[in-house]
Amino acid sequence: METKIAKNYINGEWVDVAGKESQKVLNPSTGEIIGTVNLSTAAETDKAIAAAKAAFPEWRATPPVTRARYMFKLKTLLEERFNDLVKICSMEAGKTLEESRGEVRRGIEVVEVMSGIASLMKGQAMEDIAAGLDCMAYRQPIGVFAAVCPFNFPVMVPLWFLPPAIATGNTFVLKPSETVPFSMQLTYEILDELNLPPGVVNLVNGGKDAVNAILQSPDVNGVSFVGSTPVAKYIYSESAKYGKRVQSLGGAKNFMLVMPDANLAGTANALIGSCFGCAGQRCLAGSNVVAVGDVHDKLRDVLLEKAKALKVGIATDPSSQMGALISKKAYDRVNHYIELGIKEGAKLILDGRGIKVPGGENGFFIGPTIFDDVTPDMTIAKEEIFGPVFNILRAEDFEQAMSWIDKCPFANAGTIFTASGKWAREFGYRLPATMCGINIGIAAPMSFFSFGGARNSFFGDLKAHGSESIDFYTDRKVISARWF
Ligand code: NAD
Repeated sequence: METKIAKNYINGEWVDVAGKESQKVLNPSTGEIIGTVNLSTAAETDKAIAAAKAAFPEWRATPPVTRARYMFKLKTLLEERFNDLVKICSMEAGKTLEESRGEVRRGIEVVEVMSGIASLMKGQAMEDIAAGLDCMAYRQPIGVFAAVCPFNFPVMVPLWFLPPAIATGNTFVLKPSETVPFSMQLTYEILDELNLPPGVVNLVNGGKDAVNAILQSPDVNGVSFVGSTPVAKYIYSESAKYGKRVQSLGGAKNFMLVMPDANLAGTANALIGSCFGCAGQRCLAGSNVVAVGDVHDKLRDVLLEKAKALKVGIATDPSSQMGALISKKAYDRVNHYIELGIKEGAKLILDGRGIKVPGGENGFFIGPTIFDDVTPDMTIAKEEIFGPVFNILRAEDFEQAMSWIDKCPFANAGTIFTASGKWAREFGYRLPATMCGINIGIAAPMSFFSFGGARNSFFGDLKAHGSESIDFYTDRKVISARWF
């Protein structure tokens, strides 16, 4: 990709960002500059919000079947550009082509579900709630919604929000991560081909100033956020302060509990994918692997063998099985946690530091890293590392493992590996996290279910995509009618 400058898309037009602050966009695999993103000011963000507000009355009155047809067309256009999206995503996010294919596919699936909006958005009605009196509950769109997105899924996370927001008849402003702006440049080129009425979808590149403009604008009715927990909390409280609907998804520390009766080969494959996929930069990534009872030694050996065999490489090389960290800052943070783990007494049985990747000498690579003999009080077992590092903890039994999980302030996802229905049921019943896997490495709800955690991993009540997103993006209007 030649060096490019990210633009805003406002009211159906591409516009240069006038903001004076700017940031280079790097290819994490090579450290090369692939482009620049200028950070929009509050005034520029307000223009996008104004365009969305002006587009709302006409868009809301567009029949749901017509809005559904835009979704069908969007799905077709996204399929046509599938490989281009995959390539840009891998280039700017450092994830392998296989991982990018997975995320683009998950994003398209949200569009597919929202193609059924005419059925999904139907309300309720009843005759004769009293003599001669009927009652109807319509779902109505609310106005302007915005989404603020993280770096780690540059295509998928924005597509968690844009399709349901506009399919339900709202208009939309997207603020992608300034670290990975180019996946959304292409997505909005595709949206431009849809010929939506101007202002229905808008794109604002930027950082804090753009986000604060969204939060403080009286013309934004609701905000979706995905990112780190401190920012998620801020978005939640600011949105509430300014009277907005909000769904705010934060960070994670996911437990993977392995019972003595687990199928070892299947479990090890799932754990390797979970902990090292996307170089550990997934909110559903396994982080604390709890070996229960006597499974520890066998599990450790097989994990070690499989982790050593992973090919770490340049994201766009089809043979790479694990890519790079997003930035030098992320690289430094993960190194810091590895040093901390050693200091706190954990046993580093696989050290990914200093890995050599041909062609990636200036990239941000850390290879698969495994700590053994980790205890739940260690910092590496408590904080989100967000890198290719996982901890093995030893628990005497299921109850001890659950007591550790209970104490964790994060509750995004958790998985049990077992052959026992009893333990699987018990785990599902008691897990504080709301995304639960049974013999699944990444327990990601698909687009027809809703996505989101609990505790410090989620602030709000209605979660992303699935039927909850229809609730989030609509209000119920209950009309009681008598005709004289
Ligand atoms: P981040 O919180 O740094 O940034 C996310 C977004 O918030 C970006 O668009 C950024 O511009 C904006 N932002 C950052 N600081 C801000 C501030 N002070 N004020 C206003 N806006 C601000 O997160 P990230 O590093 O891009 O993403 C990684 C994090 O996202 C991890 O913690 C990961 O667990 C989390 N995540 C969670 C989920 C989930 O479903 N719960 C999914 C993906 C990622």
